[in-house]
Amino acid sequence: MKAPFLKALPILHKLEAAGYEAYFVGGAVRDFLLARPIDDVDIATSATPEEVKEVFSKTVDVGIAHGTIVVLYQGESYEITTFRSESDYADFRRPNEVTFIRSLTEDLRRRDFTMNAIAMNKNGELIDPFAGQAAIKAKMIKTVGNAGERFQEDALRMMRAIRFVSQLSFSLEKETYNALKEHSKWLEMIAVERKTIEFEKLLKGENYQMAIKLLIDTGLYRFLPGFKDKHKELAAFSQFDLTGHFAISEYWVLLLYHFHLPRNNVEAFLRSWKLPVKQIRRVKLGLSLLTQRLDHEWKLEELYRAGKESAIRTEKLLNVLQERYIDANIDELEGVWQRLPLKERKELAITGQNLLEWYQLQGGPWIEEKLLAIEKAIINGELKNERVSIKEWLFTCSQP
Ligand code: ATP
Ligand code: MG
Repeated sequence: MKAPFLKALPILHKLEAAGYEAYFVGGAVRDFLLARPIDDVDIATSATPEEVKEVFSKTVDVGIAHGTIVVLYQGESYEITTFRSESDYADFRRPNEVTFIRSLTEDLRRRDFTMNAIAMNKNGELIDPFAGQAAIKAKMIKTVGNAGERFQEDALRMMRAIRFVSQLSFSLEKETYNALKEHSKWLEMIAVERKTIEFEKLLKGENYQMAIKLLIDTGLYRFLPGFKDKHKELAAFSQFDLTGHFAISEYWVLLLYHFHLPRNNVEAFLRSWKLPVKQIRRVKLGLSLLTQRLDHEWKLEELYRAGKESAIRTEKLLNVLQERYIDANIDELEGVWQRLPLKERKELAITGQNLLEWYQLQGGPWIEEKLLAIEKAIINGELKNERVSIKEWLFTCSQP
C-alpha cells in the first residue's frame, strides 16, 4: 500500500472497530492502479454521517445532505462519504435526494466510470464489481451501466469523461462515446461552475489536444459558455503543445488569443465562465501583453510596466505560439530587465509626498501623472533616479 493510504489506514480501522465497513474509493484508488501521484484519499463507509461524527473527534460538516463529512486526522483532511444511492434525478443534474445505504456495491454502482468505481479495503484488496481494473488496463473510460442513462442522470459526467481523456490519455469506450455524441445537448442543463471546474482540469491535462478534439467531434463544445460557433477557433487552439508548465490563467489567454474576440467582449466571455474576478484581471492583462508583444518587441517602458514575471510569462506564451522550443529569448529578456535603471516604483528616489511639498498643490490625479512621466524619463535614460536630478528636471524641463 502506498504512503497516502497507509497514513489514512487508521481511519478505516477506527470505523471498522466501531462496527462499520470502510474502504478507500474513487480517484485515489484509480491513480494508485495507474501509478500516478495520489491526491486526496477518499473514504466510503456504511456509517451514516452522524455515526461517523461519533467515531472521530475532529470533523467538519461539508455536505451532510450528500453524506460527506470531513475528518481531520494527523494533519490531513479526509472526505468520508456514506454509501449512498442517488434517486430522483431532476433534469440531468445532481440528484435532489440521496438515500444512504449499507451496500458497497450499490455505492460503487452510482459512480460515473468503471475506473472510478473500485474500492480498496484495509488489506489493500480490491473490490471491483464493474471491471474497473480491466478498463484501466485497456485505458478505457466506460460508464458504470448504460451510458445514456448515466448521462441523463447527471450530464456533467460527459464533461468529466473528456477531462479524464485529457488527464489520463485514455480513450472513450465506444458506447460511452456514442451516448456522449448523441446526448451532448444535455450539458445545457448543468451549472456553469461545475463545467468550469472540469474544463480547467481538461485544459491542464497532458492529452488536452485530443480532449479538445473530442469536445468538437461530440458537439459538447456547443454547450460551453461562449463556445457555440467557435469550433474552428477551438481546433486552432488545440494545435499548440501546452505541456509546458503554465498557470491556468495562461491557458485562458491562449484560448482567447485564438478566439479573436473584440476587446470589449473579453470580460463578458470570462464572466460567462464565472471565473473569479482576480483571475479575470490576470487573463485580461496576459492577453493584452501577448497582443502587444506579437505586434512589436518590448519597449523598455512596456517591460517596466509589465513587471518581470508577467513579461517572462508573455514571452513563454509567445514561444508556444511561434513553436519555438528554446528559451533563448527569455535569457535575453532577463538581461534587458537587469539593465533597467528602475525596476519598480518602490525604487524611485522620490515619492508623491515630495511632489506635494514641491508643488504646494492639493493632491489629485496629477501626482500619478507626474510619477508616470518621471518613471518614463528614467527608464528611457533621460533622467537619473536621484532626488536632486528629478526636482531639477521637473522644474526646468517643460513638463506635461
Ligand atoms: P480527481 O483526481 O480529479 O479528484 P476523482 O475521480 O477523484 O478525480 P472527484 O470529483 O474527486 O474525481 O470525485 C471522486 C469520486 O466520486 C469519483 O472517482 C467518482 O467515483 C465519484 N464521482 C464524482 N463525480 C461524479 C458524478 N458526477 N457522477 C458519479 N460519480 C461521481
Ligand atoms: Mg478526487
